[in-house]
Amino acid sequence: MLEAARAAGKSESLDRLLKDYPRGPHDQPQSMCPAFGSLRVGLRMRRTATILCGSACCVYGLTFTSHFYGARRTVGYVPFNSETLVRGQLYEDIRNAVHEIAKPADYDTVVVINLCVPTASGVPLDRLPKAIDGVRIIGIDVPGFGVPTHAEAKDVLAGAMLRYARLEAESGPVSRPRAMADLPTVTLIGELFPADPVGVGILLAPMGLAVGPQVPSREWRDLYGALDCAVAAAVHPFYIASVREMQAAGRPVAGSGPVGVDGTAAWLDGISAATGISADAAKARSLPAIRDTLDANPIDARITISGYEGSELLVARLLIEAGATVPYVGTACPKTEWSEPDRAWLEARGTHVQYRASLEQDVAAMLDVRPDLAVGTTPLVQKAKELGIPSLYFTNMVSARPLFGAAGAGALAAIVAAQTKGRDRFARMVGFFDTVGAGETAGYGWKEIPRDPPGAKDRYRKAREAKAKAAAAVGS
Ligand code: SF4
Repeated sequence: MLEAARAAGKSESLDRLLKDYPRGPHDQPQSMCPAFGSLRVGLRMRRTATILCGSACCVYGLTFTSHFYGARRTVGYVPFNSETLVRGQLYEDIRNAVHEIAKPADYDTVVVINLCVPTASGVPLDRLPKAIDGVRIIGIDVPGFGVPTHAEAKDVLAGAMLRYARLEAESGPVSRPRAMADLPTVTLIGELFPADPVGVGILLAPMGLAVGPQVPSREWRDLYGALDCAVAAAVHPFYIASVREMQAAGRPVAGSGPVGVDGTAAWLDGISAATGISADAAKARSLPAIRDTLDANPIDARITISGYEGSELLVARLLIEAGATVPYVGTACPKTEWSEPDRAWLEARGTHVQYRASLEQDVAAMLDVRPDLAVGTTPLVQKAKELGIPSLYFTNMVSARPLFGAAGAGALAAIVAAQTKGRDRFARMVGFFDTVGAGETAGYGWKEIPRDPPGAKDRYRKAREAKAKAAAAVGS
């Protein structure tokens, strides 16, 4: 598909994706369809409609996600078949759909997302009108063979929207964001637990700074407010296109995030360096409270962390500050300069940090470490359960509780304690269910060990060999 997309004129789009989201040990998603990330960013926004263009099965899965989130936003679908794809009719169909839906009374923005097949076929979304009756039209390619994780796909759309908003702001007056702080603001980049921006605002208050609209944003005009910040904070370090737009708007960018005592102190110093405002008062007010909370909620466990959200290093830092031992952190996201302080801090404490970690690496690390708690993706958690290792789905752990400041410091201890307590129960369950559901005991309806039909394997082997031989003979 990659070659097909290049042949169909998508080289520029693919090269940009490859530069922003470099490949690692694995070059294709090992989790959900990456377009889910872009779709989700569109679903967050008011007065925004999304049109998906891709195979029906992909669109079914993606729209299911929007129902799952109860998004109550419009998601359109432009179907295709071989003929409309090959004859270029698909592009015409998309353009008609965009014209049909782009009504200023209903929408500020219409987002069109090319999935794998239309991207590989070169459907040129860049030729869509930039606006129809004032409704902005944004077309993006988000193929699974170009964007390695759904996390980075969030950045594809967030960056495209920021770029559009920046160019609007540069060429004339724009709408005022609904909520504008009187103070200079910090734009937090990344999807955060709702209490976190509030907590970060409390941290920043002694510096005379406030938290501005976040990226990804809730509303189009918030993008102007996000761009109009004193400093952008790349708390999720993989938003490469979004950071590029912030820098193009002349904003300094700070990496890492305010986790634990060390992390919060270093982050406030970074904000101070970017703004020229002393962080002493903010540190004097917040650090003792974070220290007290960590001391009151100690964690005594060996934990491995794996995930694809991009905040894995920050979570590991917080756990270590609370007393945990974290020998391994794997993130499906790539190494960027915005997580560099976290990598250095973790490695100085003996943690192995694996960027672009594959599931195989995460599982190998868990088997090696045999932790008290394995925090990871669904397949890793499944593997851990089979082995009787207490485990927790990373997204459930981080998306349901704060991470930053004093609130974050106390949030993880209870869930770690609750999970690690289950080790004996897990061991009993593994003993009880021993061998059930594995190998030939998987499935039901068999009273004996299932046998292959006599000679079947042999027949298929011979057929495969003959086919390979015939293929090799062509052109010889
Ligand atoms: S084929 Fe592409 S668009 Fe479809 S689900 Fe897979 S990665 Fe997503």
